[in-house]
Amino acid sequence: MGSDEHTDVVMLPLMGHGHLIPFLALAKQIHHRTGFNITIANTPLNIQYLRSTLQQDPTSGISLAELQFNSADHGLPPNIENTENLPLDLIGKLFASSVSLKTPFRNLLLGITEKQGKPPLCIISDVFFGWAVDIAKSIGTVNITFSTGGAYGTIAYISLWLNLPHRQSDSEEFSVPGFPERCRFHVSQLHGFLRNADGTDLWSRFMQPQISGSLQSFGWLCNTVEEIEPLGLELLRKYINFPVWTTGPLLPKPWLNKSSSSLALSGNSLYRQHAGKEPGISPEKCLQWLDLHGLDSVLYISFGSQNTISPSQMMELAIGLEKSGNPFIWVIRPPLGFDLKVEFRPEWLPEGFEERMSKSKQGLLVKNWAPQLEILSHKSTGAFLSHCGWNSTLESLSQGVKMIGWPMAAEQTYNSKMLVEEMGVSVELTRGMQSSISGEEVKKVIQLVMDKKGKGGDMKKKAEEIAEHIRAAVRDEGNEKGSSIKAMDDFISAIVTRKQDQSA
Ligand code: UDP
Repeated sequence: MGSDEHTDVVMLPLMGHGHLIPFLALAKQIHHRTGFNITIANTPLNIQYLRSTLQQDPTSGISLAELQFNSADHGLPPNIENTENLPLDLIGKLFASSVSLKTPFRNLLLGITEKQGKPPLCIISDVFFGWAVDIAKSIGTVNITFSTGGAYGTIAYISLWLNLPHRQSDSEEFSVPGFPERCRFHVSQLHGFLRNADGTDLWSRFMQPQISGSLQSFGWLCNTVEEIEPLGLELLRKYINFPVWTTGPLLPKPWLNKSSSSLALSGNSLYRQHAGKEPGISPEKCLQWLDLHGLDSVLYISFGSQNTISPSQMMELAIGLEKSGNPFIWVIRPPLGFDLKVEFRPEWLPEGFEERMSKSKQGLLVKNWAPQLEILSHKSTGAFLSHCGWNSTLESLSQGVKMIGWPMAAEQTYNSKMLVEEMGVSVELTRGMQSSISGEEVKKVIQLVMDKKGKGGDMKKKAEEIAEHIRAAVRDEGNEKGSSIKAMDDFISAIVTRKQDQSA
């Protein structure tokens, strides 16, 4: 692809780290491939965060633009501009407040258009900013929607929001429009706000028009790989009826071997820079500990960047881990009901647990934050007990690591369902932060999954096949282009051709 620093692309991610980070990685990919000038627009504090991340990589070719925003104008506490660690009712308000970005965003686009003498080639906006479609049209360009999640999770989210209400009783399963009958969902897989939504509440009044707006985009970019989500992509394409380009996975560097493509390298170092996250251990110490253990023997446990579990779940998880006898690394935080920043208290775990685990080398407890990708890519790591956030899911799959699902929120229950039913690489242990689990159940699931034969063996084989597909998708050597590289080229060619047709 040619290089053109006079062509602009403007991006607008949702105000949450889980969205800013993949948007930034996508921006780097596009810039690297085309030389286009990429501007990421967001509220001032989110731009500050992106600026500090970009300072580590001054060659990125990305510009940042602050959009005027004052959280107090929207009934939010001062300086609240990001979903990170916000209670649900404030997240709802923050989502709703994002509509106020329309005017400053339009002004930014008009400024770029005036300066360059032509509008940006396209806008790339989050699925939650359906209003960007009309703004793009009004300045003579098009909107592309970028979903930072996987295809299956995205289509489930879209269909569930656009086909309200879902008022099944607690024991009920139900079919979801667009999904085959065999994929029935269970009411416990719905987040509380979706379960109670009826089209009149704050959440549905925001979600429905924004998602419907995004469905009028020119095209759709998805952080996934064509070969690993055949059902999700088939359903998404049927539902939205315009091109979907799969340019994933947007992951940091170490997951690939040295001969791999520039596409994947462009996400380098993004995930290390998680604002305010204090690592509980150095990567070296973690890897030394893993070196003590055998091939595929260690279970890694983490619930993502912000979740924790209830006190009773924490206790039972510890009991089950100890009973299983299986080696493990557990990223541990204060349980639900406690400030995540307070010091970890031994009484949250069975008496003497930490000492026993440390002495016997059965378990390594990492407080707060661990070098996840380094752990997943170590040969001793055999499985990942995860909340099934999409980044964690892609990181695990890219390393051929099978999973135990414990979904918590957002689209994680759909990701978990897909990992179990479509990919066959996971067993779901439980759902949510309130469920009751027993140490005995935990032990049984760990033993089933960690087994190198039987079901555990099959899961491993499937996870390795998926890892191979992911590696192949980002291959870019001579004429050999993987599906994600091709999708990126197809996307660029589609927007450039549209522009040429328009000018002709
Ligand atoms: N992560 C990490 N160390 C931790 C916990 C999380 O590096 O101890 C990173 C992880 O590698 C992933 C991201 O944080 O890239 C979590 O993203 P995900 O989409 O899985 O979940 P979320 O945090 O958005 O719920």
